[in-house]
Amino acid sequence: MTARINATGPEPTRVPTLAAAARWYATAGIPVMPLHHTAAGVCSCTAGPECGSPGKHPRLPHGLHEAATDSHRVRAWWRRWPEANIGLATGGKLDVCDIDTTTGLSTVLDVLDVVRPAGPLVRTGHGWHLWFAADGLPSRISLLPGVDWRGRGGYAVAPPSLHASGRWYTFQQPWNAAEALPECPPALRQLVQPAPPDIVPPAGSGEVGDVHRYAQAALDGELARIHAAPRPVYSGGRRVTGGGRNNALHLAAFRLGQLAARSGLDQSVVRPQLLGAARNVGLSAAEAERTIASGWHAGLRRPRAVVPRAGRGARW
Ligand SMILES: [Zn+2]
Repeated sequence: MTARINATGPEPTRVPTLAAAARWYATAGIPVMPLHHTAAGVCSCTAGPECGSPGKHPRLPHGLHEAATDSHRVRAWWRRWPEANIGLATGGKLDVCDIDTTTGLSTVLDVLDVVRPAGPLVRTGHGWHLWFAADGLPSRISLLPGVDWRGRGGYAVAPPSLHASGRWYTFQQPWNAAEALPECPPALRQLVQPAPPDIVPPAGSGEVGDVHRYAQAALDGELARIHAAPRPVYSGGRRVTGGGRNNALHLAAFRLGQLAARSGLDQSVVRPQLLGAARNVGLSAAEAERTIASGWHAGLRRPRAVVPRAGRGARW
């Protein structure tokens, strides 16, 4: 799958130096901290080639707690370590949607129902960062397969840091410090917010039947979503909007996989129905099988519970 962003993206915007960029962020009110850097892919920390997070972890002993917007402090750090990568604390002014894969990017764009994100877009070593205005959201790993959220208590590496791969972090869509960052759209926010508390129905209370009913309702809902996913739009032989049926299928399999453990949803029940829906909307059997398996297994790793509430239906 080709990321839509690459096809039409503007020329990357580079800021002059790491030191200047660090001050630029700090002046805009985003707390900054120096990170280790890499040379030929090797981290500047004492672990060197053994480092598990080359060029991405803080240089300061107290890490994120020392992140600052004070320009004198920021200037001093980059005078001392001119090659230090830039870490931006998230959760205060900036939140970052951290995407590692092209499938992750496509899924996020489909969740947002856009072809391109509205605000700043950073090309990272292997993926993308979408910047949003911080809104009290927590940091969260794997809100979708290959997609993390850097919110409260997190940080993100910023342009023009150098990734261990040798690629610079660059803005594919610029950040204008004078303009407000876009708000996190509700559809994405919903995925970031913590799952509702687990309520396991007491044995023999009769609610187990409810759980099955809600699980079936969830399956029906996902099938409807696959059928409603927009068709791809082509212009001059090139896909200009994703359509998103394969991504809708992936998201459906992921959500149902999340429910599998406690709801009694079984892959042998779910798979044929998802496959049938996928075939109905024109996906090939082979593509659909792969997508379902990938989404289902990702969902199993992030279980959530069905929460039956009397008379209110299921909460997701
Ligand atoms: Zn290191």
